Amino acid sequence: MQVTKNSIQTTKGSSDWFTGVVYVDAVAAPTGVSRLSASSVHFTPGARTHWHTHPNGQTIYVTEGVGLAQRRGGPIEVIRPGDRVFFESGEDHWHGAASTRFMTHIAMLDIDDKGNNATWGDQVSDAEYAAAPSTEGA
Ligand code: MN
Repeated sequence: MQVTKNSIQTTKGSSDWFTGVVYVDAVAAPTGVSRLSASSVHFTPGARTHWHTHPNGQTIYVTEGVGLAQRRGGPIEVIRPGDRVFFESGEDHWHGAASTRFMTHIAMLDIDDKGNNATWGDQVSDAEYAAAPSTEGA
């Protein structure tokens, strides 16, 4: 058993992976036989990941705000607190905040044999992002 006190600094999400301002708090780090990586990811309004895939898939669980998620070729889905989304291994996708709302989710995945958690692609363009359904009043 190992207790990690709340002493790890919040880090800013890299612009190599995110559009807009994103902050990340570590929840679980892979160690030894455990491959679990988990993060609490805080997206400011309009912020989102780039297109990406995860070698062993990923679950996100929304804890705050209003967010968006899309798999390549599918519609943009509105996601809210209590919603969870599973992305299949190798499924190209993105996730982020609605344009007018913060969104926080817990992101959970298993790293692969080489320690990789994701393969990153292009930014989600403003045109792609603008295809999101309205999140007002729903
Ligand atoms: Mn993802």
